[in-house]
Amino acid sequence: MASATAVTVPCAGDSSASSPATAAQTAEPTATPTAEQAAAATAVPTAEASGFARFGFPPEILQALAEIGYREPSPIQQAAIPELLLGRDLVGQAQTGTGKTAAFALPMLAGLDPEQRSPQVLVLAPTRELALQVADAFNSYAARLSRVRTVAVYGGADFRDQIHQLKRGAQIVVGTPGRVMDHMRQGTLDLSGLRALVLDEADEMLRMGFIDDVEWVLEQLPEQRQVVLFSATMPAEIRRISQQYLSSPAEITIRTKAADAGRIRQRYLTVPAPHKLAALERVLESEGGEGVIIFARTKAITLTVAESLEAHGYDVAVLNGDVPQAQRERTIERLKSGQVDILVATDVAARGLDVDRIGLVINYDIPFDGEAYVHRIGRTGRAGRSGEAILFLTPRERRFLGGLERAAGKPIEPMEVPGNATINQHRLDRLRQRLTGALQQSGCSEEERALLSEILQRVAREQDCSPEQLALAALELSLAGKPLLLQGNDDFTTVRANGPGRDRDRDGQGRDRGGRPLRRGGREERPQGPPEADMERFRVELGWRDRVKPGNLVGAIANETGLDGRSIGRIQIFDTHSTVDLPRGMPEEVFTSLRELRVLSKPLQISRLRNTDR
Ligand code: AMP
Repeated sequence: MASATAVTVPCAGDSSASSPATAAQTAEPTATPTAEQAAAATAVPTAEASGFARFGFPPEILQALAEIGYREPSPIQQAAIPELLLGRDLVGQAQTGTGKTAAFALPMLAGLDPEQRSPQVLVLAPTRELALQVADAFNSYAARLSRVRTVAVYGGADFRDQIHQLKRGAQIVVGTPGRVMDHMRQGTLDLSGLRALVLDEADEMLRMGFIDDVEWVLEQLPEQRQVVLFSATMPAEIRRISQQYLSSPAEITIRTKAADAGRIRQRYLTVPAPHKLAALERVLESEGGEGVIIFARTKAITLTVAESLEAHGYDVAVLNGDVPQAQRERTIERLKSGQVDILVATDVAARGLDVDRIGLVINYDIPFDGEAYVHRIGRTGRAGRSGEAILFLTPRERRFLGGLERAAGKPIEPMEVPGNATINQHRLDRLRQRLTGALQQSGCSEEERALLSEILQRVAREQDCSPEQLALAALELSLAGKPLLLQGNDDFTTVRANGPGRDRDRDGQGRDRGGRPLRRGGREERPQGPPEADMERFRVELGWRDRVKPGNLVGAIANETGLDGRSIGRIQIFDTHSTVDLPRGMPEEVFTSLRELRVLSKPLQISRLRNTDR
């Protein structure tokens, strides 16, 4: 890309700059940037006070921004808007959540000719959901520009209706590549007057197999046009497209991954495949709160998961490729408004989903790759809030953890499937809170309370019981037939002392030297089975929590003792410590040097295990 301008802008989480949400926070340090706050903000700012005034936008745009509560441009907006106002092509590496939509939409709107009714700006987006979101954003920024119209065209919706809307005239068209192509081929989308094309989430379009369509559209554009390409990552194919079709573009990179990940607490748990549904229910009960998205690999799994949760009394919505567009939009609305708290979705169906109230993302099935992981967890921690992400791994899938951590830019902490004791404590706490809440604030009218009190007195008289007995009976009633305590078998959530063999691989969370998983737990578990006859077992004070791997121990011990790595025996890794089998008869001085050894910058603190300690 000859003579390109490259700007790298730190984003959310970097102290030097802030995300859209935190930008608002900087301007109003006492406020928490929630949706409510954004709504409340409409009354406060004026168009003149807006940090967007510096771009010279028309007053109608500034007014609209003030009304939706944008006060300061986000880093990507600061960097991109001036370039786009100059008419330059632009390549932006940024993800959803950075404010990239406004970064291209605002200068595009400012440059429109309202007299020209045919499309002047075309935005291509990978999914219907994103296309609708982008169209909504254009509509809200253009709310006070009376002659500007935006139309969204996407697959799965009525073709004729879209033709009708296009015929009415629209300066901005936002669409998915296939449907845009169909309209162009049929002559129902005339791009002869087009001024600008935006490729939003270009890498996603590539991943979803739309790149040929995108190129076809690019080929049909007028010579004189501005091209803007946004992509979260820059695979070679996307670079090629930008080199081929963009001319001397400005380049902007927003570093967000690590920052986004910073707002999201990421944990994983290891659970054997047959126990995944049971583990999910337990996690939901102890960790679920506001909105939850559960990601599953296939449509069939979304249905199995939803059915199982429904059978346990949860209200669940499903989004997968089979869900028709109209229903899909209704589902997202229900999730946004809190009518439903749990959504079970496949990756593709949840692309671009932007719902502020998602507090927890559960990766029920491991994502395809690191990028998908980052995208999935990015459905929480939105609008400046914090979020939780929990990844389910079967023992065999543990080997993918490192790759996901690299993509997320930080370690993913281990957690355990909540056992009965945890769940029951949680239930008791919740019941106590509900009871206290009901005492402090009644949901009944005066009249209803009087009637309830009459019932209490009457039953007390008839049954001759104490107030405490009555209160207990009333509390029991509030359980609505659901047992207060969970008493099922929770062995799979905790560690049993099992011998090596099949079980070791099935439930394990540690690994043996071949990388095979071994049992592990939060508690101090003792490895079963004595060391082989000519071996002696040692304990070292490094475990999963220190992110130690068998290879680290083998390497360090072999180097220090001069032992051939192959003569180091079985290694078991637990939460806070590990055990290592070494050949009997280690000379005392070798043992002393091992005691001083550091692995992963931490002291090994090796000690001999007595036979009874095993
Ligand atoms: P996007 O990355 O375009 O999906 O935007 C992420 C979220 O930030 C959306 O909810 C936008 O409405 C919001 N947003 C974008 N720019 C700003 C801004 N300058 N101030 C406050 N919120 C913003």
